[in-house]
Amino acid sequence: MMRFLACLLLAAGLLPAPVGAQSRDMLADAARAFDESALRLGDDDARPIGVRKWLEPIKLGFDNPSTHPDLVRITREAVRTIAVEAGVPVVDLSASSGANFVVYFDENGVNGKAGYCFANSWWKSWAINRGELRINPTRMRDIDRCTVHEAMHAFGFNSHPHAADSILSYTHGRRALSPLDLHLIHTLYDPRLTLGMKPAPASQLACRMLGERLGAAAAAIEAVCRDRKGPTPAL
Ligand SMILES: [Zn+2]
Repeated sequence: MMRFLACLLLAAGLLPAPVGAQSRDMLADAARAFDESALRLGDDDARPIGVRKWLEPIKLGFDNPSTHPDLVRITREAVRTIAVEAGVPVVDLSASSGANFVVYFDENGVNGKAGYCFANSWWKSWAINRGELRINPTRMRDIDRCTVHEAMHAFGFNSHPHAADSILSYTHGRRALSPLDLHLIHTLYDPRLTLGMKPAPASQLACRMLGERLGAAAAAIEAVCRDRKGPTPAL
C-alpha cells in the first residue's frame, strides 16, 4: 500500500513537471515575440512604445494596379488575411484615391536597396489611420513572404521578433502566417488591450491573453506574466 502511494506521489510530483515547464517556455517565447514585434517603435528605433492598432476600416487602394495585376491579387490577399484575424473590415478600392492603406509597386527599391519591400504606418492618438506598402516586383522568388511580412508591419507589428517562429522573423523564413502569428494578431486586436496602453502593463496583459490562448496553467501565466516590463531597449 505504501509503495503504491509512493508511486502515485512520484507520478504526481514528476510527470506534470516537464509539461508545465514546456507550456511556461512556450508562453515566455510568445510573450517575448509580442513585446518585440508590437511594443517597439521599429527596428531602426527599438524604444518601447504603447499599443497601436487599427480601429477604423481599412480602405485598401493601389497606386498603379494595372502594371502588376497578379501582385494586386497577392497583396490584397495578404492584407485581407491579417485583417480577418484582427477583425478589421477592409474596403477594396480600384485605385489609390480615397484610400487610407496604399500599395505601391516600386521597382527601384527603398533607400537605394533594390529588392527590398517596405511598410510604413501612421497613427493619431495611438489609432493607426494610414498604412503604406512598397512591394518590389523584382522580388518574385518570395513575394508572398514580402507581402505578408510587410502587411504585418502596417497592422502595428512594427518590429522583428527574430527568435520567434513568425513571418516577422528574418531567421525562420516563413512565407505565410504561423500559428504564433495568429495568436499575436488576436492578442493585439483584443479590445482588452487598449490604445496607448503603456509597454509594461500592455506586455503583462498581452502575456496573460497569450497564456489563455495557449492553454497555459494559471501558475505558469502568473510566473511568466506578472513582472513583465515590455521589450528591453537595445543597448
Ligand atoms: Zn520587416
